[in-house]
Amino acid sequence: MQYEPVIGLEIHAQLLTRSKIFCGCSTTFGAGPNTHTCPVCLGMPGVLPVLNRDVVEFTIKMALATHCRIAPYSQFARKNYFYPDLPKGYQISQYELPLARGGWVRVLSEGASRTVRIHRIHMEEDAGKLVHDDFQPVSYVDFNRTGVPLIEIVSEPEIRSPEEAAAYLRTLREILRYLEICDGNMEEGSMRCDANVSLRPVGEEKLGVKTELKNMNSFRNVQRALEFEIRRQRALLERGEPVVQETLLWDAGRGVTVSMRGKEEAHDYRYFPDPDLVPIEVDEEWIERIRQGLPELPEAKRERFVRDYGLPTYDAEVLTSSKALAGYFEQAAERFPQPKIVSNWIMSELMRELKRDERDIEECPVPPDSLAELLHLIENGTVSGKIAKTVFDEMYSTGGKPGEIVREKGLVQVTDASAIEVIIDEVLAENPAEVADYRAGKEKLFGFLVGQVMKKSKGKANPKVVNDLLRSKLSS
Ligand code: ADP
Ligand code: MG
Ligand code: ZN
Repeated sequence: MQYEPVIGLEIHAQLLTRSKIFCGCSTTFGAGPNTHTCPVCLGMPGVLPVLNRDVVEFTIKMALATHCRIAPYSQFARKNYFYPDLPKGYQISQYELPLARGGWVRVLSEGASRTVRIHRIHMEEDAGKLVHDDFQPVSYVDFNRTGVPLIEIVSEPEIRSPEEAAAYLRTLREILRYLEICDGNMEEGSMRCDANVSLRPVGEEKLGVKTELKNMNSFRNVQRALEFEIRRQRALLERGEPVVQETLLWDAGRGVTVSMRGKEEAHDYRYFPDPDLVPIEVDEEWIERIRQGLPELPEAKRERFVRDYGLPTYDAEVLTSSKALAGYFEQAAERFPQPKIVSNWIMSELMRELKRDERDIEECPVPPDSLAELLHLIENGTVSGKIAKTVFDEMYSTGGKPGEIVREKGLVQVTDASAIEVIIDEVLAENPAEVADYRAGKEKLFGFLVGQVMKKSKGKANPKVVNDLLRSKLSS
């Protein structure tokens, strides 16, 4: 029997509002433990939550960007459970009436584009953080994170492979970052993902029993955990054993999933509408105003880059992976209107350096005008393509302007035939054996001689002039 995987993801994204979802406490990360707390987020008796309008607005942005329907009327619910990081004994979330439902995103994976539908997006509050002592058998709790706003984005169970799951996750992260509502940092936990996976016989409609994977803090780990879990479930089914519905933790060190707990059911949480919060009413006018303010989204930008700049799809994908990188490209391409050349430099030289230093484009020491200026210097023959790379390295490490670097370092390309001729004569005199062999028919030595001339000129001789002159000298 052939089995196929079915995957559904639940993604939690921390929203970049300045204050928490139901109180005025700061959401800034990294403050001393329990300094960003108040009676509301500490769950003291008798306090009342007040909804932060920005949370609703940010959620609507994401809902619109993913083609969801926004509910005109939605509600918060209490999800009841005990855990030391949850001071109220319940989490305020949404249950029966979420803010948004029924959207979709297009996902590019392994060269194909597929639509993955989104089941719902709802708002909720984050819990606190437990800090376990390394030496003593005690744990501490930091409530700075309680009440930080989250949205949960739930996909339909229709992702078909671990690669596609990672691609879906990347797509959502890109959108969240374009909207500037979440920084999308999985390593730091501002974007978290629970992955649900089951197998079913190929051709079968009905879904198989699923397990839920937690604790994956990178795209790579989401993919690895799913790959492992699919293998594990397949082995069980092939032996005729059932898959047990449960929650599993991914152990990245050992590369295995470990049973965490039996699956809890919704009724275990005793959900009920939160009596302390009024229902959320969203009118068309508000939605329209938010829609007008949306930025150009990754997919639209990608299509525009292909259409208007004539870039290959691959280039457009890379360049639009962040709004800042796309902006960098557009500024450089405006000043040097040969988009493919600009794209090549960004995707090779620039991105290599940034990657090496683990820098974002925002921290790039070479501004887009400087890159464009360098490309002009190549275009008008002031420097060769090869020397330009040296100039670029210098620009990157000093932040200097290309024109000045070329002048100060004497890197101007030599095109003057008489100057090059002097060098060629020297090289011919120094390599009599090679010259003789070349003339005797060893054509390949031509390249060697060109190399010698370039080397002697410290790379500054114009290669075309060198070629032409050398050929005429050798044939005379
Ligand atoms: P639960 O009640 O266990 O949280 P939900 O129905 O709310 O389950 O779905 C949670 C996530 O699991 C969704 O992303 C959904 O697409 C996915 N999912 C549900 N059933 C399956 C299944 N049989 N196989 C794979 N994924 C599933
Ligand atoms: Mg769930
Ligand atoms: Zn507070």
